[in-house]
Amino acid sequence: MSNELLRDAYVRSERYLSEIDTQRVFPANPDLMALRGFEEPFPEKGHDPNDILRHLDEVGSPATVASTGSRYFGFVVGGSLPVSVGANWMATAWDQVASSSVTSPATDKIEKVAAQWLLDVLDLPRQSAVGFVTGATMATFTALAAARHKILKKQGWNVEDDGLFGAPEIKVIVSDEVHVTVLKALSLLGFGKSRVIKIPTDTNGAMDIRELPVLDSQTIVCTQAGNVNSGAFDPINEICDLAQSADAWVHVDGAFGLWARSSSSRAYLTRGIDKADSWATDGHKWLNTPYDGGVVVCRDGGTLHGAMSVSAAYLKERDGESQNYIPEFSKRARGVDIWAALKFLGREGVNDLISGCCNLAQYFANGLEALGLNILNDVVLNQIVVSWDSAEKTEALIQAVQQDGTCWFGPTVWKGHNAFRLSVSSWKITSQDIDLSLKAIENCMKKIETPK
Ligand SMILES: *Cc1c(COP(=O)(O)O)cnc(C)c1O
Repeated sequence: MSNELLRDAYVRSERYLSEIDTQRVFPANPDLMALRGFEEPFPEKGHDPNDILRHLDEVGSPATVASTGSRYFGFVVGGSLPVSVGANWMATAWDQVASSSVTSPATDKIEKVAAQWLLDVLDLPRQSAVGFVTGATMATFTALAAARHKILKKQGWNVEDDGLFGAPEIKVIVSDEVHVTVLKALSLLGFGKSRVIKIPTDTNGAMDIRELPVLDSQTIVCTQAGNVNSGAFDPINEICDLAQSADAWVHVDGAFGLWARSSSSRAYLTRGIDKADSWATDGHKWLNTPYDGGVVVCRDGGTLHGAMSVSAAYLKERDGESQNYIPEFSKRARGVDIWAALKFLGREGVNDLISGCCNLAQYFANGLEALGLNILNDVVLNQIVVSWDSAEKTEALIQAVQQDGTCWFGPTVWKGHNAFRLSVSSWKITSQDIDLSLKAIENCMKKIETPK
């Protein structure tokens, strides 16, 4: 009975994935309307589990976004490598509390190996502590909690015990292109998102280092490796040099961009990044693992432990228990998805994935330019910012392409211009997909230009 049920789930998932590239990328209206099928009162009696899966598939699947397919260029989403999906399923079947070696020796070991591999492939200090969190937002939250711990401890202030009221001030520096989730992390930590110093950026969205105030030992600088629009990198090498002599803390938000470090052709963008104090990245974006896969890396494991550790009578303090390095206590075995992806790809495969997406982005940009569109950013990574002749035409084109359904991307505002943004971040995307998408974009442009 339960075997059959899980086999049915597998068959349905398999069919979904095998048909995804022939579907519209964003669901059509009737499929969206059909979602009303989920609006039922809470059932008094339970349902047949087979019916539940059928309902999920028949009503849910058609209204999903094909972001795990090969022509989704919205946000920075990435697909999922099949091996990573499979590993995720197995880890779900195990249902481990992946917080310690007592609750799960297997996942504890796998996550420790994955942690070392991450430090290796991203070429970060090998003694760093690594935590598997839900995403880059929580990775930054966790890292900045460590920074707060360290800076206040230097002042003799125990922030975990005594909180922030009356604590010595911490200066927080971000750029005016800071990702909104860094501001969210700052707000959750009591730093406030308006109480930060915002540094202007250059034309490609990288922090202008000439505008940086004098750093001191009470300062956190939040840098960005991979601007969410343009893919630009802050001058992290230079910022780290300034910070080191001032004993300031440098955090790197590298949700997707940190992966440039694993690409032989793009690693130059990340020069000196290993001199920072903490890093946030995601498996679920560019490494193409399923969601719920963020990673925090902190050079000084003791500091991260100081900020995150828990103790209880029923817990024995063991070095390296994951619950002492991340906000969560119980957690699913997120590191297993990442382990599987890294083992499948190897150093060569990660390089091919990252370099390949960057090359395809360049190819895409050239094709868009040939159609008469304007490329607004310097395409250094996998991100393209594009506009047409006017804000109205740009908006009309986005609408038309989304209606058409061949591919999907969304609007952004770049340096005051209405634009759209494309991200090439999935293992599935090929040059044929880009050709198909260019064709669809060209057709939409023609329709808009033809007088009605
Ligand atoms: C996506 C993103 C984040 C947030 O990551 P989540 O995994 O969604 O929490 C932070 N910074 C940048 C640059 C991003 O692209």
